[in-house]
Amino acid sequence: MSIKTLPDFWFEPRPWMDGQWHPGGETVTVRNPATAEKIAEVSRADAATVTLAIEGAVKAQREWREISAVERGLVLKRTAALLLARKDEFARLLTAEQGKPYAQAAGEVEYAASFFQWFGEEARRVYGRIAAHPEAGREFFIEHKPAGVAGLITPWNFPLAQGAKKVAAALAAGCSAVWKPAELTPLIALAIGPLMREAGLPDGVLQIVPGRGSVVGRVLAEHPAVRVLSLTGSTATGSALMIAAAPGIKRLSLELGGNAPFIVLPDADLDFVAEQLTRLKLLVSGQVCVTANRVFVHADAEAALAEKLAVKISDARLGNGLADGIDAGPLIHRQACTEVGALVEQAVATGARIVCENRSYESDATSRDGSFFPPTVLTGVRDDMRVARDEIFGPVIPLLRYTSVTDAVRRANETPYGLASYVYGRDLAQCRAVASAIEAGIVGVNEWRPLKAEIPFGGIKQSGIGAEGGEEGLREFLETQVISMPKPVIAS
Ligand code: ADP
Repeated sequence: MSIKTLPDFWFEPRPWMDGQWHPGGETVTVRNPATAEKIAEVSRADAATVTLAIEGAVKAQREWREISAVERGLVLKRTAALLLARKDEFARLLTAEQGKPYAQAAGEVEYAASFFQWFGEEARRVYGRIAAHPEAGREFFIEHKPAGVAGLITPWNFPLAQGAKKVAAALAAGCSAVWKPAELTPLIALAIGPLMREAGLPDGVLQIVPGRGSVVGRVLAEHPAVRVLSLTGSTATGSALMIAAAPGIKRLSLELGGNAPFIVLPDADLDFVAEQLTRLKLLVSGQVCVTANRVFVHADAEAALAEKLAVKISDARLGNGLADGIDAGPLIHRQACTEVGALVEQAVATGARIVCENRSYESDATSRDGSFFPPTVLTGVRDDMRVARDEIFGPVIPLLRYTSVTDAVRRANETPYGLASYVYGRDLAQCRAVASAIEAGIVGVNEWRPLKAEIPFGGIKQSGIGAEGGEEGLREFLETQVISMPKPVIAS
């Protein structure tokens, strides 16, 4: 079996500030979750370093906001091209650090590049307007201006793409940014620093500060120069950040947790559903805020769907994502396995049944020390079980029976979350009606991965505020100024 190697590092494992590597403080070991092998020792930014990073970003923003939008866009589009040209290196690093299989990592590099490309194009499409004034001889100018310095906080499941969404939108808007990657996956973020410099980004416009959420997050939330905070993380972290940002009245853009319903309508093609659901749940081994968390299936179809899913899930190969032919990798760490395991155990103890478990990773000697969890199909899951109420963040597919579609929709909405959802069926009118009735930021109809740079993506209820992607993604980093003035008249 051939195993891909780590690329040679073109970056250093410490904060990237003002176009250089900055001394960090305490170090943390980054390990490959598939093998537990050490990849790097990363120096974290302490509070004083983050403050310096913010000050550097303040200086850099003064020039960056004055550069033409076309020029700003060009830097972002060149970043997209460089990322794609170096897709293999980035994908190998991402797999080693995060654990997802190489093919998924390569897909994430392309996805990240699509945001640099999209916002590189959108940078030149920031339009204001002139509005009629109620008094004669005057007019309003309405302008959208960069908000200032943006604090960007990202998680470990899509450490490159979640960063790309925020960095590209903030920089396109004319903001400078201080990016704090997740503790467990700082390397892929640090790898972006020199890449963007090569793409022509002036020093200081993007500062990258690995560190603890409680330390870096607090400084970003409290520093008066940071005007926008954009977080992708858990709902609990979003809530903590809102509280920390409250005294300074900061703009917040939050992409938080989910508990996505996946409604299989009675006329759905079950082979298609099984194939799509398997792909969705094996993506980053289910550690995705938009993954299907509750699969509602008609009581008459539950057994058939469970059987088809069992075949698909059993076919998958789990192991070290740097090896060939791997379909799913490990969870991020052992603790995650314990937590997902507890949800499955509680479900089984209260009446659910395990239909299949895939432990193919046990035959991969290189993954002996990895934090793997077996993809699992559960039937007979009820709404009150923890596996249906909590965000699972693992490759578990819980099937929940329904007898009426109206009831399935009602139960699908009985959650404090409202991020993604899925509807599968043959009758598109029925799919459309069900999709409209679901309380969620995005609904995929017969589509397991509806997320693209071109569309706004964001949650409702406790899943978040604001959107990423689309033209809306740029607005998160713009503020509106109105100038009310006399209409100029021709001097005679
Ligand atoms: P996950 O469960 O996906 O790890 P978290 O919400 O714990 O989600 O982490 C997402 C990001 O938020 C990480 O970069 C983490 O360091 C950061 N973070 C955690 N706690 C805080 C906090 N109190 N303030 C700001 N950022 C935080």
